[in-house]
Amino acid sequence: MSKNKATAAYIHIPFCSHICYYCDFAKVLMTGQPVADYIDELLKEYDSYQITSLKTLYVGGGTPSVLPADQLEKLLTHLTKNLDLGELEEFTVEANPSDLTDEVLAVLASSPVNRISLGVQSFDDKLLKKIGRTHTEAQVYRAIERLSAAGFENITIDLIYGLPNQTMEMVERDVKKFLDLNLPHVALYSLILEDHTIFMNRQRRGHLRLPSDERNADMYEYIVDTLTSNGYSHYEVSNFGKIGYESKHNLTYWDNAEYYGIGAGASGYLDGIRYKNHGPIHHYLREENKRVNEEILTRKEMIEEEMFLGLRKRSGVSRERFQEKFKQKLEDVYGMIIQDLIAQKLLFEAEGRIQMTEKGFELGNEVFERFLLD
Ligand code: SF4
Repeated sequence: MSKNKATAAYIHIPFCSHICYYCDFAKVLMTGQPVADYIDELLKEYDSYQITSLKTLYVGGGTPSVLPADQLEKLLTHLTKNLDLGELEEFTVEANPSDLTDEVLAVLASSPVNRISLGVQSFDDKLLKKIGRTHTEAQVYRAIERLSAAGFENITIDLIYGLPNQTMEMVERDVKKFLDLNLPHVALYSLILEDHTIFMNRQRRGHLRLPSDERNADMYEYIVDTLTSNGYSHYEVSNFGKIGYESKHNLTYWDNAEYYGIGAGASGYLDGIRYKNHGPIHHYLREENKRVNEEILTRKEMIEEEMFLGLRKRSGVSRERFQEKFKQKLEDVYGMIIQDLIAQKLLFEAEGRIQMTEKGFELGNEVFERFLLD
């Protein structure tokens, strides 16, 4: 029986069939990798926690759907064999539209997986090619049709805006195509240039034409207005869902609750310790202790995280919960700052909760920075 009180687990599959130009996730090209050894080692790490009950399981990557069907089956079967499935509310697997083979789909359909996160990013074939994705718009529709036919109705997709040469009209077309699909959830990201990506190299050589900050802000506003007026709740900075389809797993992170992080490069939070596993596959396979880094959070860091993470949610931070957790009133720690941000219309208070306004969501980091303690 696990001694941890975490009810969520993240499982990392670091393999990809190609590398997207913007991506800085912990991933590696799958060709030539010791996939079977990796799954064995990952399952050993999972077993070491002796988990018997979880509310949410999330298999992300990388690209879990590139796993050979037999390895995926082994993974999903093993992850759930000792779990009380009556407790497991949400089990998500990330997939790419181009690698949902019949075999992979059959494995997913016969497992307890009940949510699929599809890496769509855009419906524009030219744009997809420019960002290094290998799927097409037609493959997205086909993947969604086949997932629906296999019984999956809880499907979320990722969309990115602020891409090179992307115009407002292109964003409008993407949003319209998403709405036409009538899916229950979408995660929305603006392109961020990260070090060690192909895009960052191109940018440094002056070969990348990105929309201006104002254009990005217009895109964000347009997407938020259109999705919210079409029945999607903007329940977290980057996430929109129909009622009842908010991501339960991701809410664990934003609630600043503990979770298991398993696999190469995965991060976890257990017993007040934030940890990170070895990233390179060979290190992960070789090392007995999978953790490369552990950080015991100070009280100050816990308070800051409570605010950064909590304010990402539309429902914000509860004064009561804060006081229960930290034995100190929210206003004793942040009184002036909260008043100031309310005056600037970046925050508001309702029913004992401090929440972001749409303007606050848009400025995100500028608001979060104000909650850093000296
Ligand atoms: S964006 Fe996803 S599919 Fe593309 S390289 Fe990164 S992890 Fe792999």
